[in-house]
Amino acid sequence: MPATVIKDIVKAINAGRSFFLTSHINPDGDSISCETAMALFLEQLGKRQYVIANRDGCPDLYRFLPRAGKIIKTEHVQGTFDVALILDASDIQRTGDIIDLRTQVKKVIVIDHHLSAVPFGHLNYLDQKSASCAEQIYNVIKARSKKITKDMALCLYTGLVTETNKFQEANTNPAAFRTAALLVEAGVDPNELGRQLYEENDLPQLRLLGASLSGITVSHKGQIATTIVTRQLMRQTGAGIEDTEGIIRYVRSLKGVKVAIVLREQNNGFKVSLRSKGDIDVNAVAVRFGGGGHKRAAGFFLEGSLARIKKKVFSQINKQLD
Ligand code: 5GP
Ligand code: MN
Repeated sequence: MPATVIKDIVKAINAGRSFFLTSHINPDGDSISCETAMALFLEQLGKRQYVIANRDGCPDLYRFLPRAGKIIKTEHVQGTFDVALILDASDIQRTGDIIDLRTQVKKVIVIDHHLSAVPFGHLNYLDQKSASCAEQIYNVIKARSKKITKDMALCLYTGLVTETNKFQEANTNPAAFRTAALLVEAGVDPNELGRQLYEENDLPQLRLLGASLSGITVSHKGQIATTIVTRQLMRQTGAGIEDTEGIIRYVRSLKGVKVAIVLREQNNGFKVSLRSKGDIDVNAVAVRFGGGGHKRAAGFFLEGSLARIKKKVFSQINKQLD
């Protein structure tokens, strides 16, 4: 564990009075988990002057978490801060440029676990081996706090369980289970939290899933499975952008598939999500297109028509498969 940087981060937090917390655009369970747990930690230290802001706010699914109600959705944050905590965002663009770190913040702390992570802070706690960023937040809190509260544990466990897809993805390692055990000891009920996270789907979401799976196409001798989530499909089903998150897992689950692709129509192009089963490095593909992520889960955005985007993406993935 990078003990020195954790110590320095704790020192910087101790010295700060005002704090700014953010994560990446289209935040996920890990993002929200890190932000909320960090907010609870700041409060435990008596530091109440903090702002949590994301360009895309907080998905409805995670609103039940303690302090999630404090997350502001904004394109630009006003004011200046002693410390910025940039959590689960691998580079500065991923934050959606909602703040000017050079002029609005004295000390920038970056905590991240992505393969594509860039050290853009004054202090950078980057750990590609960490299954979730939530565990890194746990390590920071643990280095200073006498008590991991039940609320903190709820937030952190949410990051851990969502980022590992219920302790099943390739990132799942012994440390993830160890931290999970400590969080359960701190008061998390995995059954109750699991119900809130996984058993509360609404009808538009399930309808979108159904339609997306009906539209799967298979190529490259059954090794690539693709589905396209168009704006029209979103309208027809009444689903929102957050309802697209889980689809790719089902696409990847098809027998024989090595790479799953979901193309989501957004702005003037498509958001491309990639997942691999086995040895294919989809991060390498994503990085080529200006995105990033992890070896088996990565993404990027491309402008242009569907036909052209598909051509570009398939040619790269075909290369990986050959
Ligand atoms: P998803 O496909 O669920 O959006 O993202 C999968 C993984 O890739 C996540 O770890 C996510 O943070 C990362 N990722 C997705 N899109 C981008 C992107 O545009 N840039 C970077 N750097 N990472 C991305
Ligand atoms: Mn994330």
